[in-house]
Amino acid sequence: MADDFDVIVVGAGMAGCAAAIRLAKGGANVLLLERGAQPGTKNLSGGILWGHDLDAILPKWWESMPVERHVVRKRFGFLTAEGSVSFSLSDAAWGTPPYAAHAVLRSRTDAWLAAQAEAAGATVVASVPVERLNWEGTRVHGVVQGGETMTAPVTILADGANSRLALGTPIRPNPRLSAEATELGVKEVYKLPKGTLEDRFNVRDGEGHAEEWVSGIFPPGVMGGGFLYTNRDTVSLGIILNIASMFGKNVQSHDLLERFKLHPEIAGRLDGAELVEYGAKLISGGWASRPASFHGDGWMVAGDAAGFVFSNGLVIQGMNYAVRTGLLAAQTALEAKAANDASRSRLAAYHRRLESTGVLADFREFEGLDAVKWNPRFYREYPELAYRVLHDLMTETGGPKVHARALAWKAFRRSKLKWSAAAKDVVSLGRNL
Ligand SMILES: Cc1cc2nc3c(=O)[nH]c(=O)nc-3n(C[C@H](O)[C@H](O)[C@H](O)COP(=O)(O)OP(=O)(O)OC[C@H]3O[C@@H](n4cnc5c(N)ncnc54)[C@H](O)[C@@H]3O)c2cc1C
Repeated sequence: MADDFDVIVVGAGMAGCAAAIRLAKGGANVLLLERGAQPGTKNLSGGILWGHDLDAILPKWWESMPVERHVVRKRFGFLTAEGSVSFSLSDAAWGTPPYAAHAVLRSRTDAWLAAQAEAAGATVVASVPVERLNWEGTRVHGVVQGGETMTAPVTILADGANSRLALGTPIRPNPRLSAEATELGVKEVYKLPKGTLEDRFNVRDGEGHAEEWVSGIFPPGVMGGGFLYTNRDTVSLGIILNIASMFGKNVQSHDLLERFKLHPEIAGRLDGAELVEYGAKLISGGWASRPASFHGDGWMVAGDAAGFVFSNGLVIQGMNYAVRTGLLAAQTALEAKAANDASRSRLAAYHRRLESTGVLADFREFEGLDAVKWNPRFYREYPELAYRVLHDLMTETGGPKVHARALAWKAFRRSKLKWSAAAKDVVSLGRNL
């Protein structure tokens, strides 16, 4: 019996939409299924989109996609109990087309991307929470939902970080994500009059400001950080937490978000702002979060579902990898359709593409990143040390002038740091960041 579609894509996030657009433009009969009432309603990012990968399917996409602002400045720093230390990077080229990065709200961008897929010829159906993949032995032959089976020779799994369709199957034999390799993101969106926002963040019309903070203000042992991004007339603000570090500590993620919001560095910028949205989502990325395989008989896995989120404390980048890997899976599916062969060996071209385009190298090369990112000293001792040295260096007390090296030595001795641990951390930083 003939299949219902050439390709079924599960999940209308960045990966699924990109794949569906590429497939439809390539002449495939593609079905894009989304569990949300509308694409984007279930999605959440910080979110700074480094969108160059979209150029391949939607030239000059930033002119029509509902992006919020193009980023012209990024600030990075440490929050401590007494203050903060930060630096800021701006680049004139970021302010001119094709721009570098955009602040986005996924409820808008994903709905727009799904509409582009539909316009290209894809069948997009929302409010369909796919129950499971249709396994026929080791082969996936479409999906099952509400007792109905929809078939296609190729299924692309793009259902995000907590891929229920993959967990406990040959794709991800473990039925649960590992707490050590999973983070929790909690986000709020605040409305501000556009003029107030632009004055407060020192940006002009269309320009955006982005901040990422390592938090030294959470209870001892709890590791995480915060972000703040400007949208058109709202501010996206949130925290990202190492889940394993919260175990046994009787802490609530919303209390930690409150601490972040109340820090003097953040609080003033929310004066008079009105909360309009909130949400939470898991992040499961990095080499340790990869599935058992990225492809098999009749299936490929892309985006967050495959663990393609790069996060090193300075940046979090997942949407770009979602688009890129969605496109690579789509290209492979088009070739499989032309060859009338969706076997594991044919779809191995997807794995080769992940290698040749450098996606796997990005994650393999930074396998040791977690050792740096989730080192407790980067959340307490080092922020305190940096704060103390700079504070003393920049504060006039009326006392005698002291060399920076002497201040650093004094601050180091006051901290609970040991030379051996600090030396190890410097080596680890150099090797893994
Ligand atoms: C707090 C936070 C901040 C972040 N900040 C950034 C950032 O600034 N920049 C960046 O690049 N990345 C950021 N990320 C990561 C980024 O959000 C993800 O990498 C990106 O969304 C992955 O896209 P995706 O299409 O693979 O998955 P998703 O966007 O998660 O999309 C998956 C889709 O599948 C649907 N779905 C799931 N299960 C089913 C089912 N059974 N049936 C039908 N549909 C289903 C979902 O509803 C969803 O629409 C952040 C993440 C978080 C949580």
